[in-house]
Amino acid sequence: MLQGDGSLRVGVLAIQGSVREHIEKLNLIDGVEAVLAKDKNTLLSLDALIIPGGESTAIGKMIVDFGLKEAILKLNERKIPIWGTCAGMILMAKYIVNDDKVHLGIMDISVKRNAYGSQLDSFKTKLMIPAVSNNEIEAVFIRAPYIENVGNGVRILAKHQGKIVAAQQNNLLATAFHPELTDDICFYRYFLKL
Ligand code: GLN
Repeated sequence: MLQGDGSLRVGVLAIQGSVREHIEKLNLIDGVEAVLAKDKNTLLSLDALIIPGGESTAIGKMIVDFGLKEAILKLNERKIPIWGTCAGMILMAKYIVNDDKVHLGIMDISVKRNAYGSQLDSFKTKLMIPAVSNNEIEAVFIRAPYIENVGNGVRILAKHQGKIVAAQQNNLLATAFHPELTDDICFYRYFLKL
């Protein structure tokens, strides 16, 4: 749904986590209106939604407590693009191998939380992701998950040391790392083309 002025309303789920960083990146892109999404009506007005990194258990609980889960599920039914980064990816997954919880359960991936262990909590690397850019992309992993398995309809976009760290299923995009923490906006452009 393009707005009257032709801009695209892109929301960042604003409960906890790296919300401001995503908003700042969206503000760099022409034709995008970046919106803090923390209530149901705002969510339902969006053309695209980013679910940021943070703590998936906390965000997962709050989307239920604040009555936002249904609105996000409705956006998915409408095939609105939804991009989960890190904890956001965990929230979208249908299966979490080391947790009993499933939050939104909309993307046919099974993820492992805190998959890089406690020693190697955070690291930076460069990934070649041909679908997204012709250049290497800097990727920041912070207590990151990875994807152990994907269903048939899921396209694997990137691997790091043999583990899947970015994938797409129709309108859904998932990255284990944090593009909002680097200078490159190519992932945002890729997402907005969905
Ligand atoms: N470890 C967090 C979790 O399991 C995710 C970390 C992040 O989003 N940077 O929810």
